[in-house]
Amino acid sequence: MHSIKDNIEQIRMNIEAAALKSGRKVSDVRLMAVTKTVDDARIMEAIDAGIDLIGENYVQEAQRKIEIIGNAVQWHFIGRLQTNKAKYAVRLFDMIHSVDRIALAAELDKRAKAAGCIIPILIEVNLSGETTKSGVPKDGVFDLVRQTAGLDNIAVEGLMTMPPWSDNPEDSRPYFAQLRALKEAIAAKQLIGVEMQELSMGMSADYEVAVEEGATIIRIGTSIFGERPL
Ligand SMILES: *Cc1c(COP(=O)(O)O)cnc(C)c1O
Repeated sequence: MHSIKDNIEQIRMNIEAAALKSGRKVSDVRLMAVTKTVDDARIMEAIDAGIDLIGENYVQEAQRKIEIIGNAVQWHFIGRLQTNKAKYAVRLFDMIHSVDRIALAAELDKRAKAAGCIIPILIEVNLSGETTKSGVPKDGVFDLVRQTAGLDNIAVEGLMTMPPWSDNPEDSRPYFAQLRALKEAIAAKQLIGVEMQELSMGMSADYEVAVEEGATIIRIGTSIFGERPL
C-alpha cells in the first residue's frame, strides 16, 4: 500500500508528463481530490500533501466535513444535485460541476441571490447518451447555456463530463475531445455571463488522457485514497 502522499506525488508527476507531452502548462491543470466515503483523517492527510481542492458527491456528507475541515481548501460539488438541496449547496460549495437542467440552475440562482453571492457552475454534459448518466444531452447544451447565462447570480464557467466506464483510457479520448470542441464552440458565441474556461474531465482511470485533451480540473478518488467500500 502506498501512502496518500505517495499517491498524490505520483499523480502530480503523471499530470506533468501528460502536460509536457501535449504542450500544456502544468499550472493550468488543477488536481481535485474526490472524497466521497473518505474519512476526515485521510482527507487531512491529502491536504497536508498539498491538496487544495476537494470534490464531494453528497450535500449532507460534505456539510459535516466542511464544518470540521473548514474553508482553507476549496469545496466543489460533483454529484447529482436535487433541486431541494440547492439552498444548502450555494452556501457550502465554491463551484457546482453538475448543473444539467434549467430548473436546477434557476433554483441555484434564486438561492444564490438570497445568500448574496454568485455561484460558479459547470454544465454537465452526457456525451454517450447512456440513460443511467446524468448530464444534459449534447444537442441540449447550447440552449441550457443560453438560459443559464441570463441568470444574474450564476456564473457559467465551463463544462463537465463523465465518459462511459472502460478499462482502456484511450476509449475516453473522443469524449474529452468532444467536450473541448463544445466548450470552444460555446466560447466563440461570446455570451454575456458565460466564461467557458473550465473543462472538468478525467478520473483515476483516464486523467492523463484528459490532461492531453485539455482538462483544467481532474477529479481523482481511487488513485489517491484506494478503492471505496461498495
Ligand atoms: C467518484 C467520482 C470521481 C472519482 O472517481 P475515481 O475513479 O475514484 O477517481 C470523479 N468524478 C465524479 C463525478 C465522481 O462521482
